[in-house]
Amino acid sequence: DGLRCLQLNSVSRVCSAPVEGDDIRLLQWNILSQTLGQHNDGFVRCPEEALTWEHRKYLIVQEILQNQPDVICLQEVDHFKFLQTVLGSQNYAGIFFPKPDSPCLYIEQNNGPDGCAIFYKRDKLQLQGYDTRILEVWRVQSNQVAIAARLRMRSSGREFCVATTHLKARHGALLAKLRNEQGRDLIRFVKQFAGDTPLLLCGDFNAEPVEPIYATILGCDLLRLGSAYADVKLEREEVLHPSEDVVEFVSKSMKREPPYTTWKIREEGEECHTIDYVFYTPDRLKIKNCLDFPVGEQIGKNRTPSFQYPSDHFSLVCDFELLPPTENGK
Ligand code: NDP
Ligand code: CA
Repeated sequence: DGLRCLQLNSVSRVCSAPVEGDDIRLLQWNILSQTLGQHNDGFVRCPEEALTWEHRKYLIVQEILQNQPDVICLQEVDHFKFLQTVLGSQNYAGIFFPKPDSPCLYIEQNNGPDGCAIFYKRDKLQLQGYDTRILEVWRVQSNQVAIAARLRMRSSGREFCVATTHLKARHGALLAKLRNEQGRDLIRFVKQFAGDTPLLLCGDFNAEPVEPIYATILGCDLLRLGSAYADVKLEREEVLHPSEDVVEFVSKSMKREPPYTTWKIREEGEECHTIDYVFYTPDRLKIKNCLDFPVGEQIGKNRTPSFQYPSDHFSLVCDFELLPPTENGK
């Protein structure tokens, strides 16, 4: 069946009940742009009908809503109005920021530019402010964007920040370097916005853990982040950010990342790799659960997208507990 469950520290499987109290459930997902998916990606093993918006739109909404997230971070959104209307009816409000020169616009049957979006549950969270950024590379604007938002728990008044991005796609050493520069700009932007507030930084980074940007983000002394899917099975005392050996911290984290977050077949062949992440502030947030990805047999031999999975990326769903500030204020 299509139902996916939350893994509770890899022991039991808990289905999508909403989180309690001040806990935060984040859903991170590259939903696959309708225009790009249908007319540009070349998913040779996906039936054409499965790629139509009529087919995909309810699968996307269903996947989001069945997980009951408090915060939703999306990439490749080119139907923001639709999502705003449907998710709006379920008590979510959203922010959208398009790419400045979205590739969608060069395809005839487009529905506007694609971009990033953040939605949050209105009855639980209050938007305290947000900012957007066109990421810069060597001081020049690129075609990739980020959004950062400050959210306040209505129940307790406690605040956290969430930021999302979709970095430059494609393979090659030069592009890996470019993504690393985008990551450095992202860090500056997010640090300036969030200050010392607990942070969730997620997105489609288009980079496997071995790429420089992974170490740039996890090794960043300004933000002191960990990676949620890499840390979820660890005991609390093991996940604390070690200040003395960043190289070891990064390489250990890298090895614990899931085997894939996207799995597709194009003309050039099959691509199965980990490029989407949820980074978080381990000093201030505890990672409690991460949603498992479907396994090979569930996904099927034609991989994704498919009649069952509307995007070539899987959704990452994480439950966090907001921890009290430590005594030194960190
Ligand atoms: P990116 O290189 O970041 O990629 C754009 C999209 O293409 C992403 O959403 C990405 O998905 C997807 N993608 C990744 N790999 C492939 C692949 N092998 N085949 C098809 N699609 C893929 O785009 P930029 O924002 O930097 O924009 C550059 C692109 O925009 C150009 O490649 C061009 O196609 C288009 N463009 C066209 C112009 C024109 O005149 N025709 C002018 C300007 C731009 P994911 O992130 O999920 O991997
Ligand atoms: Ca894509």
